[in-house]
Amino acid sequence: MTLYLDYNATAPLCKEARKAMEEGMTLVGNASSVHQFGRHVRQKIEQARLEVANFFNAKSAGVIFTSGATEANHLALCGFQGRVIVSAVEHDSVDQARPDRIVCPVDRQGRIDLTALESLLKDKGQRTMVSVMAANNETGVVQPLAQVVELAKQYEVFVHCDAAQAVGRLPSFWEGIDLVSLSAHKLGGPQGVGALVMRTEIPLKAQLRGGGQERSLRSGTENFLGILGFAAALKEAKSDGWAAVGRLRDTLEVRLKEQQPEVVFLANEALRLPNTTLMAMKGVQSATQVMSFDLAGIAVSAGSACSSGKVKPSRVLAAMGVPEELAGCSIRVSLGLANPPDLIDRFLGVWAGIYERAGTL
Ligand code: PMP
Repeated sequence: MTLYLDYNATAPLCKEARKAMEEGMTLVGNASSVHQFGRHVRQKIEQARLEVANFFNAKSAGVIFTSGATEANHLALCGFQGRVIVSAVEHDSVDQARPDRIVCPVDRQGRIDLTALESLLKDKGQRTMVSVMAANNETGVVQPLAQVVELAKQYEVFVHCDAAQAVGRLPSFWEGIDLVSLSAHKLGGPQGVGALVMRTEIPLKAQLRGGGQERSLRSGTENFLGILGFAAALKEAKSDGWAAVGRLRDTLEVRLKEQQPEVVFLANEALRLPNTTLMAMKGVQSATQVMSFDLAGIAVSAGSACSSGKVKPSRVLAAMGVPEELAGCSIRVSLGLANPPDLIDRFLGVWAGIYERAGTL
């Protein structure tokens, strides 16, 4: 059986999300229609909105459904009128949203440099928003959000957090954060839906204008089925169970290091998502590894899925000072909650095979 170890790219649809969507499929109606069909769909969307809001201790009106985290990030950053500071390891959808962004460096483990952030914040005068992700998709590194929030309060700036990878995998981390971006498919919901949760009412400029849906902040007929699946998956997204996954990940790293001392684990001195490990097999290109693992029935990825199709050096790893030769030989393994007992043995066996074959070339 194929081993799927690419949960940071996308997680399988959970059964509760599937059930909610199947039930939704029996309904007809546009939520904006005033007749009873439309009202029924509207009522279902508002129930889902309330559930998402409650999860983040926000108001219903603060939940703006979008097509995913990419769009939520754009609404937060492009919609904000003022300067934005982003960490150097943000997902491309944050990094590329605003060409005028100010980039704050990170340390060698990929954590935001709080001293550098503070000096950027000292330069007052303009409304400012800081955008720092909860956890990185490539390395799993968890950012020191509590300290970011503390600085933000001190300098009276807003905080946006791209939480696509963290919801459900980390216990509540959104205290003091104003805007949170979410993507349903990372937490067992369907692809193509997400939300921007506004925990503070910040005036944002709509990025999609037209029919005036989502309080005119995101025009376009709502992704009704997607929203139902999203809310159902979020209900199931609990951070318990992940400690065992963290232990499995740690054992995998220890055993791989014993088997092959040359392996390098990146960012493993930082606090990481329990399911993620980024490892470098020196001398073997990431793309070759990904293909070889795939042929052996194990799905892993080279850095982020979004850039793994294109073979380009990781901006995130470059910001951490990881040399290009090492970055180019790294693969990301990201686990889910349910794992077969022979996962580590299978992985180690395939890893050794690829490494040996590469050595004989
Ligand atoms: N932010 C992070 C941290 C992500 O991992 C991803 C998905 N790779 C996104 C944003 C974009 O999410 P989506 O593709 O659902 O828009």
